[in-house]
Amino acid sequence: MTDGLRARADELATRLAAVEQRLADACAAAGRSRSDVALVAVSKFHPVADLEVLHGLGVRAFGESRDQEARAKVAELALDGLAWHFVGRLQSNKAGSVASYAAVVESVDRRSLVDALSAGAVTAERAVEVLVQVSLDPPAAGEGRGGAPVDQVGALADAVAAAPGLRLRGVMAVAPVDEDPAAAFDRLAQVAERLRADHPDADRISAGMTGDLEQAVRHGSTSVRVGTALFGLRPPALR
Ligand SMILES: *Cc1c(COP(=O)(O)O)cnc(C)c1O
Repeated sequence: MTDGLRARADELATRLAAVEQRLADACAAAGRSRSDVALVAVSKFHPVADLEVLHGLGVRAFGESRDQEARAKVAELALDGLAWHFVGRLQSNKAGSVASYAAVVESVDRRSLVDALSAGAVTAERAVEVLVQVSLDPPAAGEGRGGAPVDQVGALADAVAAAPGLRLRGVMAVAPVDEDPAAAFDRLAQVAERLRADHPDADRISAGMTGDLEQAVRHGSTSVRVGTALFGLRPPALR
């Protein structure tokens, strides 16, 4: 290993330990067990060498937001037990590709995408887990940070649950930029609770990123998606 790679490996180990400490503290403060909260390493824009280091440190779940990049990493990394989470905006014409490698698609926000992912999963003869992405922005916010409006989550979830090849597992959200994340995650927890009444298996809440994982854990997140704290900054234009 070159000195540069060694230094990067040391940095990643230090960053992972710090994230683990934050998670342990957040779980303790919320009276929850650390094992109730999964860590997804959001590796978008970072090289496969970084993923190999984190894999060596025990990380198995990686989050990607662009099909082309994710597919290249999937092809290049021959590592045991990896679970790829697709967390980005997904165009329907990429759904077949994503369904061929993703363990979990966290960003399902519309009916047409359900149909396209289902067709892709059936073709690939795979079972793909799905989270419905919920918009926590006010209705007037337009595109916001993505996701289905709260009043459409139930129908979308029903469609996922009925779709061949897909397994409805819960909800995902990104906190709005201009609101206290705790309030937003509290609304998400209520959406998740209503969903579980109809779909008992849909018990996952993917919430919390580098800036707000403590609030998310306090409000019931079962999976945090951490990029910057684990890897450092992404190129500014691509964040
Ligand atoms: C990039 C991204 C993350 C990671 O965000 P950080 O603030 O870097 O931890 C999490 N979730 C989604 C949907 C993302 O696109």
